[in-house]
Amino acid sequence: MSGLENVLWIGGPPGSGKSTVAQRVARRHGLRWYNSDAHTWAHRDRALAAGNPAAARWEVWRATPPAERPALTAAEMLAMSLHVDRGPMTVDDLRALPKSPLIVAEGTQITPRMLPPGSQAVWLMPSSRVQRARLEERHKPLAVPELYLLLGQIITAEVDDANARKIVVDDLTPVETVAAVERLFADTIAAGPRATIAQERRQLLRYANRATVAQMEAGFARPWATGDVAAAVRSFLCECAQPTCVAVVDLPIGAFPGLPDATSPPVLAAGHQVSGDRLLDAR
Ligand SMILES: [Zn+2]
Repeated sequence: MSGLENVLWIGGPPGSGKSTVAQRVARRHGLRWYNSDAHTWAHRDRALAAGNPAAARWEVWRATPPAERPALTAAEMLAMSLHVDRGPMTVDDLRALPKSPLIVAEGTQITPRMLPPGSQAVWLMPSSRVQRARLEERHKPLAVPELYLLLGQIITAEVDDANARKIVVDDLTPVETVAAVERLFADTIAAGPRATIAQERRQLLRYANRATVAQMEAGFARPWATGDVAAAVRSFLCECAQPTCVAVVDLPIGAFPGLPDATSPPVLAAGHQVSGDRLLDAR
């Protein structure tokens, strides 16, 4: 037993739709969403504290003005991304979370190699053409980071070598991808545990939103960072806790409700209301 039987794992390269799918599955069924992108600074700090040389090199590289940065080899880019190092850190994060309800964990660092035996996992895999097109859309007018395309190649090879379970997402909409993931995990989701009370679901949504706030604060606290974190706008999950809600609310970090989370007001999309009732899963 790995102690992580309560985790549903979703891997895949940048641009595969992991975050959207994981948060929708979590919201529909009252599960906890572990969003890897909200832990990158915490993971970098852990790597630095452990004396990881690639993490230290990345900090120097990042602090260097773009025009003066040395060109990186693919191997160096990958090492400095902490792609491999972040796998065990993610396992540690998940072990530290409450066992109930089930957790949907997603991230590029989730690879067949780093998972405990018997893990329930799926990889969302776009072709390289579709991955590039999706990332171009997301990053325009900026160029797609080379690292993201490199990770696409590496993860494709890792998933194929391990003959791991995958969903090819090229021709799927987000709704269809959610449905495909739900079919794969249907028995486990049905067995639970799930949060069925609105208040508990709101706590899970707040957990995910608070992770976004913490990530932003950590990013703006970097020695080389500029700007005001309070004015930085991010998308937060609507905390109405209705299983059918897919709304996000764009807020500056400074406008996000203060601590303690248990008593601060919910973040709500226009027209959405909190419910105090027992909730049924979305169908
Ligand atoms: Zn809502």
